[in-house]
Amino acid sequence: MATRIGVLALQGDFEAHQRALARCGVEAVQVRTPEELSSVEGLVIPGGESTTMLKLLNEEGLFDPLRRFGAEHAVFGTCAGAILVANEVSHPPQDSLHLMDISVERNAYGRQLDSRVVRVHGNNERLGCGDFEAVFIRAPIIRRVGPGATVLAEYAGDPVLVEQGRHLVATFHPELTDDHRVHQLFLKKVQ
Ligand code: GLN
Repeated sequence: MATRIGVLALQGDFEAHQRALARCGVEAVQVRTPEELSSVEGLVIPGGESTTMLKLLNEEGLFDPLRRFGAEHAVFGTCAGAILVANEVSHPPQDSLHLMDISVERNAYGRQLDSRVVRVHGNNERLGCGDFEAVFIRAPIIRRVGPGATVLAEYAGDPVLVEQGRHLVATFHPELTDDHRVHQLFLKKVQ
């Protein structure tokens, strides 16, 4: 049986992730309830507004189930999703799922990267490519990467793609470009 992938669909650009996964040959399902979460084996947390998503996670009774899910299954957080899976959040501080040993500062690029496409430098061995194009929208900066986590891509000296075991975070939006290597890396982690 094929692996079932879910996309958290409470808020944000979850449909763009479904389209990106479809281009990788995977039909991902939308997850809005603990029951739907228990039917998938890997989850994408999309970009959007992390404070709103956090509020909705609590309202839907998904916060604790999602923490438990992450202890056993792969989670891929992009932008707001990366903020949600981090161990520590600043600017301003807020609660998070503590799935990855990274510290993030929200909206940290200011106007500079309000909404921009830039070239980032990737780990060739792990991604099968060197530099690639990445879309940033009011992105956080990953200020600290714990010893168990590995930086896979950087922009201006800051990490923008980080993995730790089964989990992956991107501060950019790989679902908005035609380059599917990042989604493919996540799919490998789920399998
Ligand atoms: N600025 C948003 C936040 O702090 C994240 C932006 C995004 O996901 N594109 O939640």
